[in-house]
Amino acid sequence: MKTILATVDNKQPEQKWIKQAADILKNGGLVAFPTETVYGLGANGLDACACKKIYEAKGRPSDNPLILHIAEKKDLYTIVKEVPQKAEKLMNAFWPGPLTMIFQKEDCVPYEITGGFSTVAVRFPSHTVAQAIIKASGLPIAAPSANSSGKPSPTKASHVIFDLNGKIDMIIDGGNAEFGLESTIIDVSEEIPTLLRPGAITKEMIENVIGQIEIDPTILTKPSQNLVPKAPGMKYTHYSPKADVILVQGNDLSIVQQNINHFVERELQLSKKVGILATDQTKQYYDCGIVLSLGNRENLEEIGSNLFKHLRKFDFLGVDIVYSETVPEKGEGLAIMNRLQKAAGYKIINV
Ligand code: AMP
Ligand code: MG
Repeated sequence: MKTILATVDNKQPEQKWIKQAADILKNGGLVAFPTETVYGLGANGLDACACKKIYEAKGRPSDNPLILHIAEKKDLYTIVKEVPQKAEKLMNAFWPGPLTMIFQKEDCVPYEITGGFSTVAVRFPSHTVAQAIIKASGLPIAAPSANSSGKPSPTKASHVIFDLNGKIDMIIDGGNAEFGLESTIIDVSEEIPTLLRPGAITKEMIENVIGQIEIDPTILTKPSQNLVPKAPGMKYTHYSPKADVILVQGNDLSIVQQNINHFVERELQLSKKVGILATDQTKQYYDCGIVLSLGNRENLEEIGSNLFKHLRKFDFLGVDIVYSETVPEKGEGLAIMNRLQKAAGYKIINV
């Protein structure tokens, strides 16, 4: 298949491309487009056949449900059975934006996109290009991250081209995704809402609006037979680059640096190509290896937005093993550590 590549202005996207994208979606095709979290791979969310193509293009397991994207709050009421009061409050506080909520689904939503569940995940993205495409299609758009399943989510159009060129109808390039981490997911279908995936809308921000919530224990602990995440997608060793990733954690940053330097030296002696995920505060203290800084430790938004891009860069550079610093699990740090733990397959060295 020849994939159409279109570059648009991310504030005022050209109507010609928006219309073409919407026409493809209405005809059951696949279009990748930017959102404020990561790039999404869109299909008509009410058409099981169109959504099947998403699973095929990504190599996504069929039990992993999709998120439906809408461009007006009122569209929510046509795809879900009930909107609890707490969900209304969260919608008013955070939509449009990087928050996905899980509701009881309406009959029009096919079980093929919900992994067989009677619930459906819904998000109203804030990105101008995403909103324009969804509006022009007049449909709820299923749009998982536009990467091959298992790879880090795409934060630039070039990542999407690398993974999906030739497998989908169209890729819209609208520049870098702002947050660079997938949306926060909260299940509001039960009495006490549960955080299933941390993101840029933090647990603290949510609790400020609706009071205490639960958190899925697998957010920071390796899933097992006895500990199954409620969001099926969270059970996979997602987000992993080809390189082995090992996290090095400790209260004293200088001890962390010393240990990473020591591990890197050992790997270099074994003729391994080694990468280091550092921060602006520490990057100058690493003696060898390929050092990429995630950004300023005081600015977790910056660290979140660079994480997947850097993991992909290490793959591109053919790195065998990556040693990474960690961040405290507060605020957006919870989302960053969740993605880092998955990238590392939960390999963590405490020093
Ligand atoms: P992605 O679209 O790649 O960001 O992944 C969507 C995430 O949402 C996956 O982890 C899914 O398992 C999760 N998800 C989607 N729908 C549901 C649902 N009805 N219940 C629980 N998790 C869901
Ligand atoms: Mg994904």
